Amino acid sequence: MSPFRPSILIVDDLPANLVALEKVLAPMAATVVKAHSGNEALAACIDQDFAAVLLDIDMPGMDGYEVAAFLRGEARTARLPILFVTASYRDEAHELQGYGAGAVDYIEKPISDFILRSKVQVFLDLYNSRRRLEEELARSEAMRSELIESEERLRHAVIDAPIPVLMHAEDGEILLISRRLSEATGLAAPEIPTLAAWVDRAFGPRAAEVRTRVASLFGIPAAQPIGEYEVRTGDGRVLTWDFHIGPLPPLPDGRRVLISMALDVTETRRARDALERSVLDLARSNAELETFAYVASHDLREPLRMVTMYLSLLERRLGETLDDEGREFIDFARDGAVRMDRLILDLLEYSRVGRVDRPAQDLDLDEVLAAVTHTLGTLIDETGAEITVPQPLPKVHCNFSEVTRLFQNVLANALKYRRPGAPPRITITSEPEGGFQRFCVADNGIGIDRQYFQRIFGIFQRLHTREQYDGTGIGLAVCKKTVEHYGGRIWVDSEEGVGSRFFFTLPG
Ligand code: ADP
Repeated sequence: MSPFRPSILIVDDLPANLVALEKVLAPMAATVVKAHSGNEALAACIDQDFAAVLLDIDMPGMDGYEVAAFLRGEARTARLPILFVTASYRDEAHELQGYGAGAVDYIEKPISDFILRSKVQVFLDLYNSRRRLEEELARSEAMRSELIESEERLRHAVIDAPIPVLMHAEDGEILLISRRLSEATGLAAPEIPTLAAWVDRAFGPRAAEVRTRVASLFGIPAAQPIGEYEVRTGDGRVLTWDFHIGPLPPLPDGRRVLISMALDVTETRRARDALERSVLDLARSNAELETFAYVASHDLREPLRMVTMYLSLLERRLGETLDDEGREFIDFARDGAVRMDRLILDLLEYSRVGRVDRPAQDLDLDEVLAAVTHTLGTLIDETGAEITVPQPLPKVHCNFSEVTRLFQNVLANALKYRRPGAPPRITITSEPEGGFQRFCVADNGIGIDRQYFQRIFGIFQRLHTREQYDGTGIGLAVCKKTVEHYGGRIWVDSEEGVGSRFFFTLPG
């Protein structure tokens, strides 16, 4: 923006005079506008503002006094400083007439350049400072109305806020509350004119503590979470509100202001409390169940051992007197005891998954597989099975014996549920999935009907009789409990008569 340059109007019917005046004024920081008559001068004043007018008195047609009278009569030019330029009428009568017409000064001819410039400079300075003042006024007026508007916007924002909001000054006066606060508590603004009234009614036994807390917040630089408080409503209900309190600019009288905002978390809190309670209940009953299973399976083995031992004693004592049927009965009884022992052992294993005495570590799966194939060695040889691991397996972060048991159960099933006449072909692969490793153990066995894909992971769930395939129905339940203990999952995809693919994920 180019700096503002004020204008000066010079009026004279003689062009030579105008030129002479213009020359004198040329060095000044002003634009000189010339008018050759009173009419021309008035027309110029309609178009623009002048810092001052140098007006010749003796002009044909409209003389200087008449021009001055016109200018004084118009609101726009009423305060325009008029300097009469005169030689011939310099007597008291004319001078009075000049002042009466609104002159502020006289300049006598012949004109002294210095005096003319000094006088004009006074009016230029006056004009410039008045203009600056007006600009300043306009600016502060604009700021004031902007302030009023933004205050109005804030009022609306607070009143219409969809959450409880309260604004209060440091002397305790409540300045604004949101409609939502009134609706939720049943307290209208006139009922809570002060912070003390609000706190006493809403916070009951914690009122004193809340008052001290709020008072300590004047001076905080930004809004901060205050925490959950119970708020009593007018009709005796208790709500839970999560408060945030922050500073606002002070009032014009200097009082500091705080704005409190709350989220009604009554329902969330109720749900959370209920959830926490049921999680605790669940954890407790889970722990009890695990302890029960552990103790029960442990203690059950002892009488079982006695049964087996006395069966053998009985067999030995009766010796030759035992007929074939008697021998068969004893065999059945011993068989039952052996099976029960296996069941108990599997149950014991199931109850032990995830116990604290089995810490996780970085595991090399080659070692795990070596242990598994060693255990299953005889079965692998007998069935002519081939176990292929096409890519090196990644490391996992788990407990060694649990992961060994996991692979062992899945591989033992792949060997056990083989198709007659088709030696087991088992492939183990893996790929990363999120922070986990996803493993796949694929076999070419009898397969599983789709409707049992979920059921087989339940405890004691079997799809075959003991005569068809031996087992307790706990193996996959142990696998599921193991992977879930590590945050993973296990599932199966299979086609009957073709084979199965068991997938599971473990933390990498
Ligand atoms: P178990 O083998 O002792 O019966 P599991 O819990 O290991 O118990 O398996 C549950 C059932 O899932 C098995 O009885 C069997 O019917 C089915 N199953 C498991 N693995 C396979 C597999 N690789 N191929 C076909 N069926 C399987």
